[in-house]
Amino acid sequence: MEFYSRRARDITPYKAGEQPKGCNFVKLNTNENPYPPSPRVAEAVSAFPCGRLRLYPSPEADDLRDAIARYEGVARENVFVSNGSDEALALAFAAFFDDERAACFADVTYSFYEVFAAMFGAKTQVVPLKEDFTLDIAAMRACPCAGYFIANPNAPTGIAVSAGEMEKFIASAPDRLFVLDEAYAEFSGETCVPLIKKYPNLAVIKTFSKSHSLAGIRCGYAVGAPALIEGLLRMKNSFNSYPVDAVCAAACAAALADGEYHEKTVRLVTKERERLRGELEKLGFFVPPSGANFLFAGRARLPAGEIYRRLKEEGVLVRHWDRPRISDFCRITVGTPHDDDILLEKLKKIFA
Ligand SMILES: *Cc1c(COP(=O)(O)O)cnc(C)c1O
Repeated sequence: MEFYSRRARDITPYKAGEQPKGCNFVKLNTNENPYPPSPRVAEAVSAFPCGRLRLYPSPEADDLRDAIARYEGVARENVFVSNGSDEALALAFAAFFDDERAACFADVTYSFYEVFAAMFGAKTQVVPLKEDFTLDIAAMRACPCAGYFIANPNAPTGIAVSAGEMEKFIASAPDRLFVLDEAYAEFSGETCVPLIKKYPNLAVIKTFSKSHSLAGIRCGYAVGAPALIEGLLRMKNSFNSYPVDAVCAAACAAALADGEYHEKTVRLVTKERERLRGELEKLGFFVPPSGANFLFAGRARLPAGEIYRRLKEEGVLVRHWDRPRISDFCRITVGTPHDDDILLEKLKKIFA
């Protein structure tokens, strides 16, 4: 402690979900994809010429940038690649917000936003979600701020704002920056990426961690107007010149090239999400409709904290937060039908 900076002393770091070793758990706690990445990823990694690791990679991962640009229907200048989308989000705080430019976000959302704000000294404005956990757009619009961080679909609720409604919000505040965190957008079937051509105040952040089944590789990206991408590059190049390694870039480009596989796994997960939601409701949970690969299940016969603990004893990991408004909910990642059946069986046992 005596050697810590004030910042290191004062900050409360983000707490990621448990990653138990030697995983005998049915692991439904960190929204990983239950299916492996496309077989083309394994091919790209085994075919990677390791002699090339002698050299530094492309600083902006330009080949991957081009692959993402093709996939998203934009130009290379509209794409910024990062070490996980968390890094793009962090650099967005650094590039666009400070003690005078406040960042506004919901009270119940990705809890990393408040940590990044503290890390980079950004002022924050926290606007509560409505009673039903939907985004209070009118209150956010009325909030004095320089811009917004909005997870859409939101985490941990899974609730999505439609692209049409989001566009109205973006158009209503052209002097404010919108950073949309679309980590789960593939599971909702909607994205605001095409809007970046119309709105220079919009950056959309996406990840390879969820729908592409590549959480272990650490890669994400931002899409936006060139001026916004330049802002992110300024910060990246003041911190880490090569955040995306060459093997990672090749693997992620291979994943993008296999659109058929991606669509197939997304379809499996969303179909299973609807089945699991129905079964959880039958067990007495309140479960808002989800546009993500997880469900937010609560207000059941036992307190959520107790359900979390009992499930863990039974070998099933879900996520629970002791935070206001959400302490009576568990966030449950959609697994394979087999894993979800184990979850449901254990819940029935706990409730019996
Ligand atoms: C999982 C997640 C991310 C992605 O994190 P990575 O660093 O890309 O693995 C970003 N935002 C939200 C809301 C998430 O749940």
